[in-house]
Amino acid sequence: MQCDMCGKETSILYKTEVEGVIMHLCKQCSRYGRVISRIGQTQKEKKQDQAPKERIPLEIVEEIEIIVPNYGEIVKRAREKKGWKQEELAKRMAEKESLIHKIESNKQQPSIQVARKLERVLGIKLVERVVEKHNVIKEEKKKEDLTLGDIVEIKRR
Ligand SMILES: [Zn+2]
Repeated sequence: MQCDMCGKETSILYKTEVEGVIMHLCKQCSRYGRVISRIGQTQKEKKQDQAPKERIPLEIVEEIEIIVPNYGEIVKRAREKKGWKQEELAKRMAEKESLIHKIESNKQQPSIQVARKLERVLGIKLVERVVEKHNVIKEEKKKEDLTLGDIVEIKRR
């Protein structure tokens, strides 16, 4: 690791606020600002603290529903397979023929609700579930303590 100010190679850096800017500085340079935390460990500390206690990975899973991009083609093919005209499909779905036309020509993406109806009537799959996973690493213990304090305060009210 290198000091942001003097460029000195060091195993321990100090996260330091210098005139409102966060810098990673060596011990000497850290005197020019306000030290927030220390980064890096001495050999002795490494042996004692091998388990990363302060890093708690949090997995946030988000599930979203999307319409497949080639929805128009899928609807058109399925409808033609059944031998229906756009008008007939519209009637079976209680929707306007113009909507079916727009969907089939990929001009208007159906809403999830309409897509579900198309799926049912035509026996196709238009809605895809996409799962997004984010990993959030909680690093600072101080922040956690704060959160805990906040919870206690809320409960007291
Ligand atoms: Zn330095």
